[in-house]
Amino acid sequence: MATLSPVLKQATPVVVDYAAGSWVYATDGKKYLDFTTGIGVTSTGHCHPDVVAAAREQVGKIVHAQYTTVMHKPLLALTEKLGDFLPAGLDSVFYATSGSEAVEASVRLARMATGRPNIISFHGGFHGRTVGAASLTTAGTKFRSGFSPLMGGVHVAPFPHTYRYGWDEETAVTFALKELDHLLQTISTPADTAGFIIEPVLGDGGYIPTPVAFLQGLRERADRHGIVFIVDEVQAGVGRTGKFWGHDWAGIRPDVVITAKGLASGFPISAIAASTELMSKAWPGSQGGTYGGNAVAAAAGVATLGVIERENLVWNAHLRGEELRAGLESLHTDFAGIGNIRGHGLMQGVEFTTADNAPDAALALAVQQAAVTEELLLLTCGPYGNVIRIIPALNVTSDEIQSGLTKFTQALKTATT
Ligand code: PMP
Repeated sequence: MATLSPVLKQATPVVVDYAAGSWVYATDGKKYLDFTTGIGVTSTGHCHPDVVAAAREQVGKIVHAQYTTVMHKPLLALTEKLGDFLPAGLDSVFYATSGSEAVEASVRLARMATGRPNIISFHGGFHGRTVGAASLTTAGTKFRSGFSPLMGGVHVAPFPHTYRYGWDEETAVTFALKELDHLLQTISTPADTAGFIIEPVLGDGGYIPTPVAFLQGLRERADRHGIVFIVDEVQAGVGRTGKFWGHDWAGIRPDVVITAKGLASGFPISAIAASTELMSKAWPGSQGGTYGGNAVAAAAGVATLGVIERENLVWNAHLRGEELRAGLESLHTDFAGIGNIRGHGLMQGVEFTTADNAPDAALALAVQQAAVTEELLLLTCGPYGNVIRIIPALNVTSDEIQSGLTKFTQALKTATT
């Protein structure tokens, strides 16, 4: 008899039997309100009937139509549909299976397109666990420690942290841009720099929206130096922040957008999008993968985007996000351990701190565990593990948000008394 490897660290003891919408039905007979959505993946809720129907139909037609061997209808349909949502000019799409693979594909593209070696990522960023993606990742030691040496040619520049450093946004952005310019002057000159990669909202790094002026400053420098500007929308994209793309908050146009997670409501598929001109600078066959752009996942992706459109889920994410945020803010004064609340739409983070403003991971964990007792699923994140991230399905209802807030309040009380 085999058992699961102890390397798997599970946030809850829950074993799922089945799930529907925002609810997970466990083998212990309990019904949990899911504010984790499989780490921001089940965008249309668990088992949305339209997504399930599309996947079922596709399973009966062909499951694995390997896309470097034969092309298949769902991937053509997904590409056409995704085109309705992609930023203007990003009209060429390559598919993989996971976020990490898509991140690596974007690095490969930036290097091939520019003929330059280096990639600059930003403190607190999370881009995945494969070796290339992990080398861009600084969201926590568990993603790097003990695995070195990681991929070379990576430089990590400061992120404009406000709350952590007690800085206003303008000071933080000015500092981070100056440090970036210094890095481009002294360590990785533009002639050596292929790309910048950044999340529009730091995900695993603590649910911190990237300041608009910083994204704009990166766009300006990318233009000035011919650097490929890659925006990792794996967690923040597909409506999560109340706009379709997280970078829409800054009104900028990236050179490469990376998407995964919410794209197919739980079926594994990821993509990078760029202009045809940029994509054409990589030689045909330089990107690929056995399972990339899977037919069933692609069909689920088409259905997911259809549901998001028909059910107006980006707007719902905005409205429910406002309700969630208002409810969280109302807890701020009653619970001294809450240091900061931030986010956009249905991507909200609550940071826990001690009386002297140090990260309080123990309290965040205690709240998360107490929430399980309240039958509410939550996850922690952040380099210090002291942030609770709240990531409901994009079709969460007002009643479910209120129910989640009630359970969260009770968990806070349990954890602090
Ligand atoms: N980029 C971001 C922003 C992510 O949030 C994640 C996953 N948390 C990844 C990349 C990696 O995706 P995957 O786990 O599918 O490889």
